[in-house]
Amino acid sequence: MSRRVRAVVLVEGVVQGVGFRPFVYGLATGLGLDGLVGNDERGVFIEVEGAPSTVEEFLTTLRKSPPPLALVERISSGLVPTTGEVGFVISGSATGGPRRALVSPDVATCADCLREMGDPADRRYGYAFTNCTNCGPRFTIVHGVPYDRPNTTMAAFAMCADCAREYHDPADRRFHAQPVCCPACGPRLRLLDSGGEEIAGDPVEGTARLLRRGGVLAVKGLGGYHLAALAARADAVTALRERKHREDKPFAVMVPDLDAARRLCDVDAAEEALLTSRARPIVLLRRRADAEVAPLVAPGNRWLGLMLPYTPLHHLLLGRLGTPIVLTSGNVSDEPIVYLDEDAVPRLGGIADAFLTHDRPIHMRTDDSVVRAFRGEDLPIRRSRGYVPHPLTLARPVPRTVLGCGAELKHTFCLARDGHAFVSHHIGDLENYETLRSFTEGVDHFARVFDLAPEVVAHDLHPEYLSTKYALARQGVDLVGVQHRP
Ligand SMILES: [Zn+2]
Ligand SMILES: [Zn+2]
Repeated sequence: MSRRVRAVVLVEGVVQGVGFRPFVYGLATGLGLDGLVGNDERGVFIEVEGAPSTVEEFLTTLRKSPPPLALVERISSGLVPTTGEVGFVISGSATGGPRRALVSPDVATCADCLREMGDPADRRYGYAFTNCTNCGPRFTIVHGVPYDRPNTTMAAFAMCADCAREYHDPADRRFHAQPVCCPACGPRLRLLDSGGEEIAGDPVEGTARLLRRGGVLAVKGLGGYHLAALAARADAVTALRERKHREDKPFAVMVPDLDAARRLCDVDAAEEALLTSRARPIVLLRRRADAEVAPLVAPGNRWLGLMLPYTPLHHLLLGRLGTPIVLTSGNVSDEPIVYLDEDAVPRLGGIADAFLTHDRPIHMRTDDSVVRAFRGEDLPIRRSRGYVPHPLTLARPVPRTVLGCGAELKHTFCLARDGHAFVSHHIGDLENYETLRSFTEGVDHFARVFDLAPEVVAHDLHPEYLSTKYALARQGVDLVGVQHRP
């Protein structure tokens, strides 16, 4: 036998839930290498064995062209004794060590999944929970690492034989896609009336019918419930505004496609790129004088916040309607967005005429992000779904783990460890019990998912802020008071 070497490789960064193991499998088997790949708490670990030049080629490709959704921060490798084992396997996830892996943000439905949903011959035709390794829910359904199905809210859905075959087939786009499912085994849509009783018939068709009649609908999304109404119907938008007690803050609008966006607003190349990006934020755009939206969508505002469909359910609903809808956070006044099914009817029953809901739980409440294109740069106004929890890289690593508790209005918090700053999703104005709970649950969630234990806690100097009170109540940490500046 010719000379063989065996390399161990550790890949760190956002490398779980982004198709990294299938990618490594395809690359290694394509080169005829033996070995294994798996997830652990730090990221993806790989062992490859074969001719020295082939192992070198493997490492070069890994560095130069990782899978598109991955955010590789570090690749470290070294040589170990060869084992002579033949074949390449995907091993189970190892657990037990310190958790360092990073979780991916939620990703908008990809073109391949959309094509399947539109194909009457496909088994996922018209299915509202279609996803694959390149798209689908992530941050909002994960409650622990490693990112594997048992650590997500898909744990309760047992895969059918067809889905299991895709999940285990290294050549399939759904190879190790953790939220994989289909109409036979996955979540189901339901349409409920304002009292929580099920309405018979196709839920998407029923929702479209109620919206066309001027109804206000609660629609369960990725990070919480939205409230929807036809954007062009003044009576529906007025009803929504009155029932939500939201006097003049602008509502966001979801449009079926880019052409519909251009009928409402001027869209330049940078704005188009933002609208169609995987994060699918609400993009603030200059509104056209002839835009057909009800006056109360964004009273007295030159700007309109538009977004494109980002879940299969949005695509089905907007495809059916063919017209823009207001899609605003499902809450009353300044409370955080409703995300638990048991809260939806009690809290939104006075606003919504009906509920388009489903049985895949949301673990982490997350609002839509709001972004503006400014001189060719993306200017985040509210950084949340689609961006969180991607960390920001610090110029200088922090020597101890830090929690920044934030201030009060438009609140976010931040956890920092080593060279990473994890800025939280948008929490809201910390003025009531519900937002305070959202803040404390968010801190606990980040601490668990990233295995962070703050040693230093920074807080605002204002003694009456709820974030300050929270910081002062934490035991066994060093406190630092900081004056926030506007
Ligand atoms: Zn997909
Ligand atoms: Zn299935």
